[in-house]
Amino acid sequence: MTNFFVRTNKFAGGAAFVTQDDMLSLRGACVLGVNPPVRDFAFMDLWSKPLGLLYLLQSLRAENSVALFDCVWEAREGLKSYGRQKTAKREIEKPEAYTAVRRRYFHFGPSRGEIVGKLARMETPDLILVTSAMTYWYPGVKWIIELLREIFPESEIILGGVYASLCPAHAARLGAARVVRGRAEPAAPYPAMDLYGAINYGVSMTSFGCPFSCGYCASGILWPRYRRRPLAEALAEIDYQAALGARDVAFYDDALLLGKEEFFYPLCRELTARYGGALRLHTPNGLHVRQIDGRCAQTLAESNFKTIRLSLESIDPKIARESSGKVAREEYAAAVRNLRAAGYAPEDCETYILAGLPGQNIQSVKDTINFVWDNGGVPKLAEFSPIPGTPLFEAAARKLPALRTEPLLQNNSVYCSYFSKDITPAELQELKDMTKRRAQ
Ligand code: SF4
Repeated sequence: MTNFFVRTNKFAGGAAFVTQDDMLSLRGACVLGVNPPVRDFAFMDLWSKPLGLLYLLQSLRAENSVALFDCVWEAREGLKSYGRQKTAKREIEKPEAYTAVRRRYFHFGPSRGEIVGKLARMETPDLILVTSAMTYWYPGVKWIIELLREIFPESEIILGGVYASLCPAHAARLGAARVVRGRAEPAAPYPAMDLYGAINYGVSMTSFGCPFSCGYCASGILWPRYRRRPLAEALAEIDYQAALGARDVAFYDDALLLGKEEFFYPLCRELTARYGGALRLHTPNGLHVRQIDGRCAQTLAESNFKTIRLSLESIDPKIARESSGKVAREEYAAAVRNLRAAGYAPEDCETYILAGLPGQNIQSVKDTINFVWDNGGVPKLAEFSPIPGTPLFEAAARKLPALRTEPLLQNNSVYCSYFSKDITPAELQELKDMTKRRAQ
């Protein structure tokens, strides 16, 4: 193995933790980026790509050789709408922490044999960068690290990503030699999407972070500083992916519409001029409804935004405070009216409603669901997931201290109904049913 650590001084101490800047000092290495399989009760491709890893690989490729193995992409089987793909899954045994959960648990990704078959044909990397996303997906991360150590015993494995940033001490025990601690803005102008070959959809982040600080959200931890990228850079990122074949683009921004006059409207004007509607645009993260006035709704429609998600969270004033007071009832009602007037159907106005927050009253969730129906939107339940480092995680961990040491308990699909017991499974089902059909 090339001993490039000797040449990159910051690695020489052999510390378990490294920073993204340390990574950027790499020279002359053969680098393999790996996106692990997902292990969970459910998984849906909402235009999910390991964006941080792809920016990093792009930054490294000038001075190193880079390759990618994305387990979610490798297990694609069949197309869904707007370029998304289904992911092959197989049922696996549940981790012990989930013994009481009466749901099936799956591995979304290729089998061990498929991975061995594909990776054995690759050049042995000096360095393997394994990324991570949800904290409670760590079993897939652990599984792939163990497998990579068998296939490439000589390679150095470095673990980064969201889970590693939020739970560094836990991540340090997963089998990687080093863990990337903290995050930095990408040094590359666009993600290395060409490593996928032809792509169906592209992804873009025109801003990092969010100027608000909601009590349950990780945005401020992952991106301590809110920054909007220059328009030309955001457009270049989209052009690059459109040239690779993307016909759909998903924006990962937390605050896409903030400062819309200076950024969002010019971005839309340019995209319409360049692509004339040939690109379909999506905002899987909720949009701030306060920003959706008549002109904004019209711009979204004319620029070919197909998937729109709205953030309401709750009409309960106590919960709304935890949501930085983002949305008042009238603002939500006006946003949906404006979107409907611009031609969007009710099902285009899917609206996230939070359920299972510590101390949240179930009636307030029901009221919020009915409020969304009454105003012409379609409610979508977002079950609370306690995210380490947030104020509401602390509130949740005071009641359930094991949250601090077992990220599996942070899983939004099961936290509130099985672990916090703030909502019973039957009550949760009732809420879900209310979002599927209008209560009589
Ligand atoms: S929930 Fe939304 S508005 Fe609140 S901090 Fe997170 S990204 Fe910002």
